[in-house]
Amino acid sequence: MTCGKAHRSVAVAGAGAAGTLITARLLELAARCRLPLEITLIDPAPTTGRGPAYATTDQRHLLNVPATRMSATADDPDDFARWLAAHADGRVAPGGYAPRHLYGSYLADHLRQRAAIAPGTVVRVRDRVAGAVRTSGRLALRTAGGRELTVDAAVLATGSHPPSVSWAPPALRNSDAFVADPWAPGALDAIPEGRDVLLVGTGLTMVDIAMTLARDGRTVHAVSRSGLLPHGHAAAPAAPVAPADGLTGCTGLDALRRAVLRHVARTRRGHGDWRPAIDGLRPLTAALWQRLPESDRVRFIRGEARQWEVHRHRMAPATADRLAGILANGRLSVRAGRVTEAAAAEDGLRIGLADGRRLAVGAVVNCTGPQTDARRASDPLPRELFAAGLAAPGPLGLGLSTLPDGRVRSAEGPDAPLWTLGATRRGELWESTAIPEIRAQAAEVAAAVMDTLTTASPVAPRVRA
Ligand SMILES: Cc1cc2nc3c(=O)[nH]c(=O)nc-3n(C[C@H](O)[C@H](O)[C@H](O)COP(=O)(O)OP(=O)(O)OC[C@H]3O[C@@H](n4cnc5c(N)ncnc54)[C@H](O)[C@@H]3O)c2cc1C
Repeated sequence: MTCGKAHRSVAVAGAGAAGTLITARLLELAARCRLPLEITLIDPAPTTGRGPAYATTDQRHLLNVPATRMSATADDPDDFARWLAAHADGRVAPGGYAPRHLYGSYLADHLRQRAAIAPGTVVRVRDRVAGAVRTSGRLALRTAGGRELTVDAAVLATGSHPPSVSWAPPALRNSDAFVADPWAPGALDAIPEGRDVLLVGTGLTMVDIAMTLARDGRTVHAVSRSGLLPHGHAAAPAAPVAPADGLTGCTGLDALRRAVLRHVARTRRGHGDWRPAIDGLRPLTAALWQRLPESDRVRFIRGEARQWEVHRHRMAPATADRLAGILANGRLSVRAGRVTEAAAAEDGLRIGLADGRRLAVGAVVNCTGPQTDARRASDPLPRELFAAGLAAPGPLGLGLSTLPDGRVRSAEGPDAPLWTLGATRRGELWESTAIPEIRAQAAEVAAAVMDTLTTASPVAPRVRA
């Protein structure tokens, strides 16, 4: 990268983990180049570094990745473990699973440290990016709060969309006793004490919400089409085992499935556990996904994605133990099932399931996971970008279409100075939501943005409130 000295401006939409990490990486590169960089970090949330995942204050909500793999940078893998040693009063062992709230504090500290050494500024704006248009090779952003901001480059770090509610019968969707997004601030506060609760979805979100809601005098019912629960991490995890042949010869889903099952069986024989085999696939996942023809990707999503998820995205051992406890004492019941009917009642809701069961509950919580189809998201921003020709939906409508360095592919004309990272790249990469992937993308996107900034002519940022 050739460093210029003229002042440059970047807007980052989203101040969750991805927005925080990309801002930190941009600041490091700016410091290295002594480039005065003005970054505007825009998010309606009151906090920086948290997003829904790390905003929870429930201490039972643990990271599902050990601290040693959650450092903000891959170059310094012990950074988070050192931060924990200094800030967590010995509550978390170096290879342990920290409460998620602590991780949000760590990311905010990480950004503060980078901002202190970089030339230029970070301005945090509490607002929502609502649209963008090209203007002479730059971008003019508009926010829901009526601001306009013209910048040399922008990064979308907007994370996952809230879950879809399209599965819920209208009487449920319109009920005050329906929690449409369990991670919205204060979402669980109004759930009545002493009443049973139905959680729809049986993945990691359900596990967290069940931890919070399960108590004496209440049964938490959980249903999903598969009824499958995530597996737990091993108490003493073994190192990942890569497939001997890199699975390079597999063309098509059927051949890939056979090869993966052989790899898992071989690893289980050699190591006594299937987990190292799944972990060993992680570096290959994006390439394997990209090699599948579209029809096979659709078959994978419909047929076996859930099996992949429950083996790949696992619970901390302490979470798995707690879950086993509430299942054993009957505070939680998990089954395969589908909501087909709902009716309001004086004390909550009456729910009918496809197998004929009836439940009387005080609340229903939507734990079905994020809406991954950008065309159907509740946030209008992706549709605005599609309409402006600045972006196109990603493969199968998942997230956005992107180039390998995270630049958003324009639907019309040359690509705008617009990049993205995290969940918006799911269609291109499949696995694109956990910190180990996001921190790698943050480094790549920051390098690409700075390359563009240092070769283009400068513009002063113009903000009008
Ligand atoms: C409950 C839960 C637990 C998880 N646990 C782990 C874990 O233990 N380890 C791990 O590696 N990963 C975990 N993950 C995955 C998690 O998605 C990532 O680690 C990370 O938090 C994603 O960060 P993000 O910034 O991409 O998205 P988010 O955290 O969703 O943040 C996106 C931010 O963008 C803002 N935003 C959205 N739209 C706009 C807009 N139009 N304009 C401005 N701002 C906008 C939102 O307000 C939000 O603050 C977990 C996820 C969840 C939901």
